[in-house]
Amino acid sequence: MENNFDIIIVGGGIVGLATAYKLTLQHPTKKIAVLEKENKLAAHQTSHNSGVIHSGIYYKPGSYKAINCVKGRHELVAFAKEYKIEHDICGKIIVATHESELAHLQKVYNNGIANGVEDIEIIDPDKIKEIEPHCTGIKALRVGCTGIIDYSDVSEKYAELIVAKSPQNKVLTNQKVVAFEKGEQQTTVITTTQRFTAKHIITTSGIQADRMAKLEGSKSDAAILGFRGDYYDLTEKGISKVKHLIYPVPNPKFPFLGVHFTRMIKGGVECGPNAVFVFDREGYSRTSFSFKDTAEALAFKGTWRFFKKHWRFGLDEYRGAFSKTYFLKRLRKLIPDLQMEDIVSARCGIRAMATGAEGEMLDDFKIEKKGNAMHVINSPSPAATASLAYGGEIANMATEYFNLK
Ligand SMILES: Cc1cc2nc3c(=O)[nH]c(=O)nc-3n(C[C@H](O)[C@H](O)[C@H](O)COP(=O)(O)OP(=O)(O)OC[C@H]3O[C@@H](n4cnc5c(N)ncnc54)[C@H](O)[C@@H]3O)c2cc1C
Repeated sequence: MENNFDIIIVGGGIVGLATAYKLTLQHPTKKIAVLEKENKLAAHQTSHNSGVIHSGIYYKPGSYKAINCVKGRHELVAFAKEYKIEHDICGKIIVATHESELAHLQKVYNNGIANGVEDIEIIDPDKIKEIEPHCTGIKALRVGCTGIIDYSDVSEKYAELIVAKSPQNKVLTNQKVVAFEKGEQQTTVITTTQRFTAKHIITTSGIQADRMAKLEGSKSDAAILGFRGDYYDLTEKGISKVKHLIYPVPNPKFPFLGVHFTRMIKGGVECGPNAVFVFDREGYSRTSFSFKDTAEALAFKGTWRFFKKHWRFGLDEYRGAFSKTYFLKRLRKLIPDLQMEDIVSARCGIRAMATGAEGEMLDDFKIEKKGNAMHVINSPSPAATASLAYGGEIANMATEYFNLK
């Protein structure tokens, strides 16, 4: 009886936890469980990200990303204030260093206006120097409402509130879901150690999202490809060269923002991440390899089409992954006086990018529904920033689709 729930959410990253939290607010009498396979919450993308509270300027107006990022940012900042989660709205600049980038910089600004992002302006080289004395550019976009936070702290608070809402709710770690058994009225969710039942299932399994949907009996057209992002830390010598957050103008062909400088809420400044295709979805080293992950990725037509379209980008990213000199060269575009001894190799994170059969990376958040289950297939950046709005959106969809009363 204890393991019987109304809704089970598979995946204790920030999206699963925010969804569960929003469901507890909307349906306080429903029994909700979050099952996480690792021995702690938020163990993958959520704790391996840049910790930036994104403003919402980059995203196509009207997209789920744009709407949920702006709404979610406001909610997140209010949430962080209410629950005393350390954060800082320190602002950032996106810097054009070449004339060829100006048109896209303007487009990003226009998106910001269309998306309702406040406190943004185009600035000239003198103003760039005033904000970031070591940075050189020909024009920049100043975004005052960007901030920094630790998303593990945010996830822990969501978990605490889910359980505080009702002692019947559970957030459980060490529960790797390995099978689902479909019954007439409910589904049995089998983990490596226990069996649970639920009327409704929501999967929010990050880099395992496509596999989890398949395991549950659904079939998504998209497959997840992993892209590792390596970071360097600024050393004691280099740290004074960055005050806030400094970003390049992104390449419009890819959903990555380009290597940037990020002041972290717990101290230090990181530079990165790059975007290197991985052969191991959860392998956090430059040489990690998983036969299963590689075989699956190569069996998917979309992977080959992605390689064919973007081989030049891929090679460039590999070069950056293995050559500190090359990584530094990229960073020097923004801070020309950065030296080799100013940076030291640090951690990495792996992004889950849902990719279609034509090799196209799906740009927007994607949720699929089948039977008594909903599968969150694509939750790339800024899903951490957007988590409260996005979780609310998934909870609204669940209310309607599952006919929750
Ligand atoms: C390098 C990098 C930088 C980023 N920077 C930012 C940023 O600055 N700002 C921002 O807003 N976003 C950023 N993002 C994006 C953001 O981190 C993600 O969009 C967000 O964390 C996705 O959350 P999630 O819950 O979907 O995935 P995850 O955090 O990956 O959570 C999925 C969970 O599912 C669990 N799971 C998988 N399989 C099973 C199973 N069989 N049984 C039980 N549990 C399972 C996993 O263990 C994991 O904990 C970044 C991401 C990366 C990787």
